[in-house]
Amino acid sequence: MSNANADSLVASHDPNHPANLICDLCKLFYNNGWVTGTGGGISIRKGDHIFIAPSGVQKERMLPDNMFVMDLQTKEYLRVPQSLKPSACTPLFLAAYTNRNAGACIHTHSQNAVVISLLYDKVFTIANIEQIKALPKITEPGCLGFFDTLTIPIIENTAHEEDLKDSLEQAIIDYPAATAVLVRRHGIYVWGETVWKAKVYNEAIDYLLELAVKMRQLGIPPDGAIGSERNTRVV
Ligand SMILES: [Zn+2]
Repeated sequence: MSNANADSLVASHDPNHPANLICDLCKLFYNNGWVTGTGGGISIRKGDHIFIAPSGVQKERMLPDNMFVMDLQTKEYLRVPQSLKPSACTPLFLAAYTNRNAGACIHTHSQNAVVISLLYDKVFTIANIEQIKALPKITEPGCLGFFDTLTIPIIENTAHEEDLKDSLEQAIIDYPAATAVLVRRHGIYVWGETVWKAKVYNEAIDYLLELAVKMRQLGIPPDGAIGSERNTRVV
């Protein structure tokens, strides 16, 4: 593919074009403190084209011209922006696309995700909280109900981001109802059928992680039965 054709993959006046959306979402997530520095990343799939934010570009200064484009079937890059490196998150994003037919994948270094990963061992669970209803059941149609339990697996961090791929894939297999995986002392990967669903899931999960940290500080188990918190003596 010529450079001109490759560049046309990321040039669009449509604000909902993946190359434009990734820039907007990176700014939003930067302002939420989820992708400070150059950490974290976003990828959106459109058909068989995967758009991926590059490595090393500050998230609030991302431009559509900075985007890598990969063919999902061949795993070959259709567009490589000049003097930029592909994101180390790319193999992890591919794991969500391949194993879950995701439409988008978000990776943040949210402090709420990092703290929760220090408080739980293999899985994080939270129950009986209204915000859970924003999250999908995955294994059957519809969303979780108020009385359901949200479960997010936790995997161990590795020295290099790309080395997380095998354990992330294993967690996806072991937890078929999960739409996210926490990485200990690192952050979280969240995916969804569309970019908008992935965004909603990421926001809802971060809210729940922050709430769980606060509940634990008060001695209230986030997955406890309704009413059990009233027996908790707050000091
Ligand atoms: Zn990371």
